[in-house]
This record gives sequence, structure tokens and C-alpha cells, in this order.
Amino acid sequence: MSKKNTKYIFVTGGVTSSLGKGIVSASLGLLLKSRGFNVTIQKLDPYINIDPGTLNPYEHGECYVTEDGAETDLDLGHYERYLDAPTSQNNNVTTGKIYQTVIEKERKGDFLGKTVQVIPHITNEIKRRIKMLSKQNYDIIITEIGGTVGDIESLPYIETVRQLKWELGEKNSMVIHLTLLPYLASSGELKTKPSQHSVRQLMESGIMADVLVCRTEHTIPKDQRAKLAQFCNVSLDNVIECKDLETIYEVPIYLQKQNFDDVVLKELDLKNDKEADLKDWKTFLKKFKNPKKSIEIALVGKYISLQDSYISIAEAFKHAGASLETEVKVRWVYSGDITADNIKETLNGVDGILIAPGFGDRGIEGKVLTAQYARENKVPMLGICLGMQIMTIEFARNVLGHSKANSMEFDTSTPDPVISIMEEQKNIVDKGGTMRLGAWKCSLKNASKLYDIYGAKNISERHRHRYEFNSDYLQEFEKNGFLATGTNPETGLVEALELPDHPFYVGVQYHPEYKSTVATPHPLFRAFIRACEKK
Ligand code: GLN
Repeated sequence: MSKKNTKYIFVTGGVTSSLGKGIVSASLGLLLKSRGFNVTIQKLDPYINIDPGTLNPYEHGECYVTEDGAETDLDLGHYERYLDAPTSQNNNVTTGKIYQTVIEKERKGDFLGKTVQVIPHITNEIKRRIKMLSKQNYDIIITEIGGTVGDIESLPYIETVRQLKWELGEKNSMVIHLTLLPYLASSGELKTKPSQHSVRQLMESGIMADVLVCRTEHTIPKDQRAKLAQFCNVSLDNVIECKDLETIYEVPIYLQKQNFDDVVLKELDLKNDKEADLKDWKTFLKKFKNPKKSIEIALVGKYISLQDSYISIAEAFKHAGASLETEVKVRWVYSGDITADNIKETLNGVDGILIAPGFGDRGIEGKVLTAQYARENKVPMLGICLGMQIMTIEFARNVLGHSKANSMEFDTSTPDPVISIMEEQKNIVDKGGTMRLGAWKCSLKNASKLYDIYGAKNISERHRHRYEFNSDYLQEFEKNGFLATGTNPETGLVEALELPDHPFYVGVQYHPEYKSTVATPHPLFRAFIRACEKK
């Protein structure tokens, strides 16, 4: 492969939102990576929040956390899961971040008396953020532009793409436009008009799409394909079909069959005879689609009506499940509905329970009841972040007899704050980006389940929390059999607890789900699924 300058791929969306630009970008990234290119994917989000950390998951789904502690869009999770490579702060940029930087510069006087404007100051800052990634020696940078072409918010981004395309010169950048072909059942037709209009809208901003990726429920007939090519100004090979598939993990294979990667490489004048090696990916898919066993796990949380809120957990189950040839069915349970009277019925028949991460006191007591149910009935249980804190509260109340034990997040006057606010968090008032975030080291006790699971003493996992296990209670917990088997090597902070005399009762302050990928299923999820199978 002849190494040239970094090449840029811009992915835009037309007609409607939620077409799956993230999945298409991740799939393309995987195809190019499998052909030996060094690829990264970036998301530009046109909203004014600095990051999604302060957003309610109902608004924007899960907040994904990177190794370096950025709170980011959930699409970054897809990028990591497909590419099996970490992203960073620089992979997610929002309008809020862009404006913040420009305004800070203005206050410093960096613009030397000039009027600060959307063009060129905002567009230059967007450009700088896109190009910043090229310092890391990538062959190809895929930049996904959030939102839909035509949105007022997206305009500065679209204009930046136009400028960059021109500045970078022929064959150094390209635009992939993802669009929707609606199906009219009454006439049995796929319609191309909305796509034509959205391509035209792009053209009004001075951008020609190089490739069209069409989301569709049905195979695109030949004549419709030709029509799309002709009216949208792309060659026939560059009309790519992206049909609804059984799982998002089939998308790379589906796109490869249409030579999507070849089309893209040709547009970028990159040569490479290697075929994308998707052997491992296909093995994963095969196992995922043909499981030998099936288990059901209850995921107990408070954002149950939108499954995007826990997407990394759901995907981690798929990765680990497939590696064990086990189908993991998830029973989504809203903790606010759980009472002592209905818990047995609600959790009846599940092979394991996961208590989800979360913030705020809604649905907390239902989660405490769930922890008690799992502990007493020896149902395998994994508690993540808030989940671990709930397991702590439950143990304190029902085993140690501190009936009013609680987290200071929910009750500041509890006589037994078994979960307390972290020292460094006490004086923080701002909500955005101020939690304990990103990867932290954790050392595991030799004779523990977790040590066996990880097969290592020193691990590193990602975090997102303000509260912690209150170590004033550590001795009492351990004396009664709930052991802190993972701690931060520098501060002694408790990162993991487990009950040795239970088939699987593990709570972790960190988020293992952020590190699970198709290529590297997470050992903790694997171990949890194994324990559920035994039940
Ligand atoms: N609300 C808890 C805390 O801030 C747990 C956070 C989480 O589950 N991510 O510590």
C-alpha cells in the first residue's frame, strides 16, 4: 500500500434522521481497516451542548465514555465495537465545543480586532477539529456529520465540507450521502424523489455526493438504481443499497458484497489489492445467528422505554454471547414498577440480572429489592456503577442491619452513607464533564472471582460517577462476606465487590460495557453469561 496524505471521507444524511450513518460509517471503517488502512471515525454533532454528558438518555441515548474520559455520542461506541480501536476526545465535536473555543479566542484578543463570524471563524474551527486527527497518522479519516442536510444547525458543517473538498483537491476527499428510499405499499414501489431532493439540497450548498448509500426495506430494482444514478449525478456502481438486515453486524458484509470499499478507494485514488479480511467477523456472525443455547437476563434500569439508553450493555451481551454460542435475551425491566409484591413474578424465570448504571433517585427502591432478590435466591447478578452502589446499599440494610443505609446521592441525611460523595467531587458545582471519567487502574485481589475472570492482577476500566463506596464501612462489609476484590492502586477506592458464597454476585464501579467489541468480547460479560447458563 502506497502511503499518501491522509484522505477524508465525509458522511452526510438526507431525508430523515436515524438512518444509521453511525453504522454505515463504522462498517466502512471496518472494511477499510480490514484492507490494511489505518482508519479512524469522527462524529460532528450540530447541537449546542458541549457534550452529551448533561443530556437525558431519553434525548440522545446512552452517553459513551472514551479511554481519555470524554463523554460522547453513542455512535463512538459503534466505531469502537466495529474497529476494535479506541476513540478519544477528538473523535466527537459539537457545535457547543466549536463556539466555546472561538469565543475563548475572541476574549483573548486572538482575532486582532476582526469581526468574528460563522464564516470563516466557525468553519475554520470545524476544519481544525477535523484535521487535528490527521496528526495521529491515519490513512483515512471518516467524519460523520450529525443531523440531516437542510437543518439550520448543520449549515456550518456542510459549508466546511465544501471548503475542505476544494482545499484538499481531487481524490483526497469524498462525500458519502446516506439517504432513504421510502416504500409505498399501495403501489409496491420504492420512491427515489426524496433522495433526489436531498442530493439537490447538498448541491445547493456546493457539494456533489460521490456515493449514495440508500436505506431501504426492499431490494432496489435495476431501473430505480439507474434513475438514482442519473438524477443524483453518481455512477451506477456508486449507488449502494443498505437494506434492513437482521442485525447491524451484517451491514459490513452486505456493503462489501456491493464492493463498497472498492468504490470508496477508487474515489480516493488509493490502491490496494488486498481483499478485506472479514474471516473473524463472519465467524462472530455465524455464531451470533446460530446459538446453541439461550438464556434470559433481566436488565433492570430506569430508562427502559428507550433501549438506546443501555446500548453498550446490550451490544456487550451480543459479543460475549456469540463467543459462547449463547443467545442472550434481554428482559427490559423498569425498576420503578418493581415492588415487594410483584418482584417474584417480574423476575420469574430469568437466568441472571443486571442492574444498570444511572443517576437520580427514581426507581431506586425497586433496584434495591432486585439486589436482595438476586442475593437471597442465588440468581447471578452483575451490578454496573449505580448497580454496584445498589448492591452495597442492599447489603448494608438487609445483612448488616443498617436499615436506613443509603447513597448520599439519594439521601443526604442518612445515618449510614455507605455510598458517599468522592472527596474531590465535594466542591464541584458544574455538572458538565466534572465526574470521575475515563480509564482508571484497578488492582484485583489474588483469590477472587474477578482475578480468575480477567486472568490478571492489574486491569484498567472506564468510569463515570461522582459517588463511591464509603471505605469507613469496608471492614464491616468484608467481615460479613461482601469482599472488595478490586481497588484503585493509588487511592484504595473500592472498584469492585463480590460475594464468594454466591454463584455470581459481582458489582463493579466501572463500566465494562464500554470496552466490549466484536473482536474482543469482555471477559466479565462472558463470565456472567457462563454463570447464568449454569443456573
Ligand atoms: N449516580 C452514581 C454516581 O454518580 C452512579 C453513576 C453511574 O451509574 N454511571 O456515582
